[in-house]
Amino acid sequence: MRVQSVRRTILLAVMALLPLTASGDEAKSGEEVRIGVLAHRGPEAAVRAWTPTAEYLTRAVPGREFRVVPLNNISLDEAMAAGTVDFVITNPGSYAILEATYGVTRILTLRNLRDDGVHTQFGAVIFTRADRDDIETLRDLRGRSVMAVRADAFGGYLMALREFREAGIRPERDFTRIEYVGLPQDQIVLAVAAGEVDAGTVRTDTLERMAAEGVVHMERFKVINRRQVTGFPFLLSTRLYPEWAFARSAHVPEQLAHQVGVALLQLAPDSPEARASQSAGWTMPLDYTPVHELLRELRIGPYADLDRVDLETLLRHYWHWLLLLFGLLVMVIGAAGYIMRINRRLSHSQTQLVELAGALEQSNRVLQEMSVKDGLTGLANHRHFKEVLAREWARCERQEMPLSLLMVDIDHFKRHNDLYGHLAGDQCLRQLAAVLHSAVQRPGDLPARFGGEEFVVVLPDTGAHGARAVAERVREMASRLNLEACEGQPMPHVTVSVGVATRVPHDALSPERLIAAADAALYRAKDAGRNCVKVHEAGDEQLGLRPPAPA
Ligand code: GH3
Ligand code: MG
Ligand code: MG
Repeated sequence: MRVQSVRRTILLAVMALLPLTASGDEAKSGEEVRIGVLAHRGPEAAVRAWTPTAEYLTRAVPGREFRVVPLNNISLDEAMAAGTVDFVITNPGSYAILEATYGVTRILTLRNLRDDGVHTQFGAVIFTRADRDDIETLRDLRGRSVMAVRADAFGGYLMALREFREAGIRPERDFTRIEYVGLPQDQIVLAVAAGEVDAGTVRTDTLERMAAEGVVHMERFKVINRRQVTGFPFLLSTRLYPEWAFARSAHVPEQLAHQVGVALLQLAPDSPEARASQSAGWTMPLDYTPVHELLRELRIGPYADLDRVDLETLLRHYWHWLLLLFGLLVMVIGAAGYIMRINRRLSHSQTQLVELAGALEQSNRVLQEMSVKDGLTGLANHRHFKEVLAREWARCERQEMPLSLLMVDIDHFKRHNDLYGHLAGDQCLRQLAAVLHSAVQRPGDLPARFGGEEFVVVLPDTGAHGARAVAERVREMASRLNLEACEGQPMPHVTVSVGVATRVPHDALSPERLIAAADAALYRAKDAGRNCVKVHEAGDEQLGLRPPAPA
């Protein structure tokens, strides 16, 4: 029974609550319209500032209920991507990014209420302490410390960053440190005043407001990169940019956007809704191109990839140039290959040519030697002997010097040949050649093979006495010649007979007559019993032929 009564009580309570729930549904009659707000001072402050505006719109646009959704930069982007907000109130940088990324369109620009005046544009001020004589321009900030709101704060940093970059300063490289301290911006002003950092940047009017509040004295600060814009009352270091924007998402119908725009334009500057947001309401939208320019220059948001050239675009736009380039490349590679091949062949031919030239030179040398030398003994041959004799004859004639000639003949050589064979005979001839070679001492002397087993020695500038001495030396050395053993048999000594003739050349004589004279003397030596030297005397020629060798 007790359980039943409890059930009844619950049922009654539920029934009693039902009408209440129903009436709640009736109160939220309009379709919800969500206004995303960039809550740079925290969600509570954003809700406080913009809820009166949302309520005003709920009243002004029938059948709709407007609600403020406080968001930060990241959640705002997510909400836009998901399409969960219909309108957005945000700073110019954030607006320009949303415009480029999600097709958001501005309806209105905020009329900001500052220093009792209304402003639709704002900038940033970069400042240091007035007593810093070392800092006059932006460039002087190199090697200094700088303080700002946040790396992505539009008025609190990016505006100043654009000016730094334009002055050739890269904060991450050039500043000793850059400190981001967040909002409120007052702490940046106080840090610069206290000398905790060398310089700071804040949005325009911050310095003037703090001075008006008596927190700081304006004379203590110096503005860097100061700019003057007519009609703009605050200290300024950067370009001016349009104020915050009220924008609609792409999916919002034209009709609703129109109603919202008209309603907000009608909002009185001193209305409680405007006061709550510290503004004087809204005005027709300004041009946000300068904001896009800043984002483009700093490569932020939609412009981050501006420098990256993707392959497809490159191919589409420049395919004919690329094709030409490729063709040229192929041609260059082909030409290089061809040149390399030709070069290789050329150097090969060059090596061959050098080798051939060497071989030719060698052959020439051999030919040259062969033309002047006797093949068996290595002495000058008959032809060379005749040339040298003619030359020396002419020279001695010019210089009126005597010229001598030895005619050397091996004794009984025929017998030697017959006894020991032709090869032993040749060996004997070679050994006698060596004797002649060592018996003559002057550079101008020339031993030569006259023919068979007969040799001659040309002795320029040598008289009969000297010639006889040489002849004696030859005869003596030949007689001491130790002929090599032939098949184990020691061979007998070989002797030579020598005829000597000496003349001082003149017109009435000739080299041939000198040869004949030496030959005649040789004849006499043979006649005298061989192995002796005879100098030509008048009448030698009458002796006739040399006596035959006794068998
Ligand atoms: P002599 O001069 O003492 O009167 O007697 P001989 O035997 O030397 O006489 P002759 O001049 O007539 O003989 C020359 C010989 O020399 C003939 C040949 O057998 C030999 N003879 C000539 N030329 C060569 C040669 O190139 N090699 C060899 N092995 N023998 C040669
Ligand atoms: Mg002979
Ligand atoms: Mg002989």
